[in-house]
Amino acid sequence: MEVVILGSGSSAGTPVIGCTCAVCRSGDPRNHRTRASIWVRGEEGESLLVDTSTDMRHQALREGMDRVDAVLLTHTHADHINGIDDMRAFNGLQEQVIPVYGRPATLEEAEKRFHYCFGDPPPPEKGWYIPVLEARPFTDALEWGSLTVTPIPVEHGRWPIYGYRFNNLAYITDVKRIPEASWPLLEDLDVLILDCLRYREHPTHLRVDEAVAVAERIGARRTVFTHFTHEIDFARLADALPEGMEPGHDGLRIAVSGR
Ligand SMILES: [Zn+2]
Ligand SMILES: [Zn+2]
Ligand SMILES: [Zn+2]
Repeated sequence: MEVVILGSGSSAGTPVIGCTCAVCRSGDPRNHRTRASIWVRGEEGESLLVDTSTDMRHQALREGMDRVDAVLLTHTHADHINGIDDMRAFNGLQEQVIPVYGRPATLEEAEKRFHYCFGDPPPPEKGWYIPVLEARPFTDALEWGSLTVTPIPVEHGRWPIYGYRFNNLAYITDVKRIPEASWPLLEDLDVLILDCLRYREHPTHLRVDEAVAVAERIGARRTVFTHFTHEIDFARLADALPEGMEPGHDGLRIAVSGR
């Protein structure tokens, strides 16, 4: 299995429009961040997209994505879903309806906000000019080829949302607290990709010190942090993190073997 970090930024991205801070002006490409998303590829060619970020089209072109078997939504904040219109490119390439999985309430909200994406396929002579997605709410683990996909309920401030586990890798973006019932779902991880917004307190996201504490408790072999604001300078954070923890960046490819 391989996971690609499509976007490692928070809702504004880095650089932030109009900002002249050192990170926004940085020449380090690892400080250039699109909105948070990952692409999961299984051993048998499975292709799962987690969230359709505001920057989805750009991310798909950058990484050479040419197929999406299914989308998994974490939640419906704009930075995680507003690229959904570009799913029509994959509908057209694959000539099929694409399923979207998520929490029942998340999918209800997605269908309300993007109602035109969840209808019937257009007649063939019109082509796939709009996205054609099928909402599939789920609460328990499902098998997708070689991948076992387990939803991990977490608290993003007052919003209950999903993180996801794929075999021995977990992706938890946008989280402030992991409820007790979810900790057992995070045992024996090879790789953890975790929210780490900024140094200062935030009501709905883990600060750097909180993210390190959560990562220590989970104890994955390798932890990669993500969803950074422009407060985070890649090199500075990389130097300060404990062994086994590292900042992620756009385009980072993480290979994971075994289940
Ligand atoms: Zn800035
Ligand atoms: Zn959010
Ligand atoms: Zn977010």
